Amino acid sequence: MANVRLEDIKRRFNNVTAIEDITFEVPDGEFWVLVGPSGCGKSTILRTIAGLETATSGKLYIGDTLMNDIPARQRDVAMVFQNYALYPHMTVAENIAFGLQMRQVDRKIIRERVETVARSLSLENLLDRKPKQLSGGQQQRVALGRAIARQPQVFLLDEPLSNLDAQLRDDTRAELKQLHAQLGVTTVYVTHDQVEAMTLADKIVVLNRGKIQQIGAPQEVYAHPANQMIATFLGNPPMNIMPAIYTNQGFQIGEQHIFCPIEIQQKLNLAPGKPVDLGIRPECIYVNELLSSQNNTRDSLLTTHLKVVEPLGREILIKGNVPGTSVLLNAQVSPNVNLRVGDRLSLQLDLDCLFVF
Ligand code: ADP
Repeated sequence: MANVRLEDIKRRFNNVTAIEDITFEVPDGEFWVLVGPSGCGKSTILRTIAGLETATSGKLYIGDTLMNDIPARQRDVAMVFQNYALYPHMTVAENIAFGLQMRQVDRKIIRERVETVARSLSLENLLDRKPKQLSGGQQQRVALGRAIARQPQVFLLDEPLSNLDAQLRDDTRAELKQLHAQLGVTTVYVTHDQVEAMTLADKIVVLNRGKIQQIGAPQEVYAHPANQMIATFLGNPPMNIMPAIYTNQGFQIGEQHIFCPIEIQQKLNLAPGKPVDLGIRPECIYVNELLSSQNNTRDSLLTTHLKVVEPLGREILIKGNVPGTSVLLNAQVSPNVNLRVGDRLSLQLDLDCLFVF
C-alpha cells in the first residue's frame, strides 16, 4: 500500500486546460473521493494517476516513487470503470484471475485468491458464468473482484456505481465501504454524486472547471463550504440561495425584511447597502405555526406562497415562492403540519445556519 501525491498537476488537451493547480496527497490506506459536476476534470485526474493520461506538467508520486514516466502497467494500481470492462469470452473466475495470470503468479495461488475474492464479494456460485449471464450489479462485483485479486497498492474507481439501479447502488456502496475497511487499500474514487461522496469518503476533493475548490472531511465541507458552488453542490435538496441587501439591522429579501441579532451582524461584519447572496439549507427552515404568539422569533420570519408540497413520510418537502424575488425556497419540514399548495406560510429561518456569499 502507498500514499498518492499530486504536485501542481496540469493537463492540457490542445488549447484547452482540463485540469490545473492540482495538488493533494492521499495518505496510505485512506479513501478519497473526487467530486464535482460533469466535465470538471475528475476522470482526467484519475487517469493521470493510473498512467492512462500524461500530465502536461507537475509531479505524481505513488509512495516515494515519481511516476510521471512509468507506464500504466508498472504502476501497481487497479482501476475499475463505470462500464465494468469485463472480457466477454471469459468466465467470472477467468476474469478475476486475468491480472494475476498476466503477472505469471503461481496457479495454486491464483486459485486460492480467486476463491477468497469471490467469497468476499458473494460471487462463489457464479464463477463459471460468462459476463452476459450476470446482472449489472454482479458484473460490477466481478470488476471489483478483478481489481482486488491483484492486491494493488492503490485502487482507482471511476463512477463504478453509476450504471446500477438505485437500490443496488445503495447496497453496493455499503459493500464498498466494508471492503475498504477490510482491505485498507489507498483508494481514489470519482463520482458526480454528492451522496456517494459524503457517505464513502474520508476526505472529499471538490472540483469545478478543472480546479480544486476545497478539500476536507465530508461533514466539514458540508458545514463550512468555501464558496457558493460547493454550498449548492453538496446537499439534497440543495442549499437555498436568496439575493438580499444588507441593511444595518438585517437583510432585505424581495419585499420582506428579516432582522438579525446583533451578535450575528457583528460576526458577518458587512457594510450596509451591500448586495449579498444569502444561503440557508432546507433543514434549517421551520414552519412557524404560532405567528402571533411567538414574539421572540418574529424577527427571522419569511412569508412564502406554497407552490409544491411533497410528503416524503418522515418529512414534507415544500417549495415556496418568496414575494419580490424569483426564489423558490426549499424546506424540509415536520409531517405533522397540514399544508396545501396555495397556502401563505410563515417560515422561520434558523439564522445561526445562515451563509453569506
Ligand atoms: P469529468 O470526469 O469531471 O466529467 P473529464 O476529466 O472527463 O471531466 O474532462 C475534463 C475536461 O477535459 C472536459 O472539458 C473534457 O471535455 C476535456 N477532455 C477530457 N479528455 C479529453 C480528450 N481526450 N481530448 C480533449 N478534451 C478532453
